Amino acid sequence: MIQVLDKTFEIFITREEIAKEVKSLATELNADFKNEEVVFIAVLNGSFMFASDLMKEVDLVSEITFIKMSSYHGTESTGRVDELIGLNNDLAGKHVVIVEDIIDSGLTMNKIISLLEMENPKSVKICSLLYKPEAFTGNHKPDYIGFSIPNAFVVGYGLDYDEKGRNLDAIYQIKE
Ligand code: 5GP
Repeated sequence: MIQVLDKTFEIFITREEIAKEVKSLATELNADFKNEEVVFIAVLNGSFMFASDLMKEVDLVSEITFIKMSSYHGTESTGRVDELIGLNNDLAGKHVVIVEDIIDSGLTMNKIISLLEMENPKSVKICSLLYKPEAFTGNHKPDYIGFSIPNAFVVGYGLDYDEKGRNLDAIYQIKE
């Protein structure tokens, strides 16, 4: 059992289980994109650890870049405007794999994909370490899933609770 701020968490997925699954995801990607050029796009902050471990197992000709989703107040008529920060790579005609830590409702991914599609990539796939099927109401189910998990809050391996706990090397689930 561990404590992060005011909440107690228990071990849910060990570092060994994560490492095994990350290897298996990379094996699938290596096979599916054999002889293709891929741009991996990792979504910060949560995916930094997953992206780093995954890329060590990927043996494709590839680029990796890191983006952040941001939402700001535009004008009165535009309301809130979503933008992707940090995308400088040319995606036109290229295969894109989005690397995410967790897909919950899927609404963040809806926004990311609609912004990425404006760059005319050849294909867009989603690789998410964690997926909460019971919470999902999005338009884009992940194509590569590490673990499908119940609808309970998790921290560690990049995922935070109020910005704390990202450095934990395993995934912990909240103890109610
Ligand atoms: P969405 O609901 O749009 O799919 O996910 C939005 C964001 O909520 C995720 O990128 C992630 O940052 C956060 N999130 C969703 N579920 C969890 C969880 O169980 N733990 C943590 N730490 N963050 C989560």
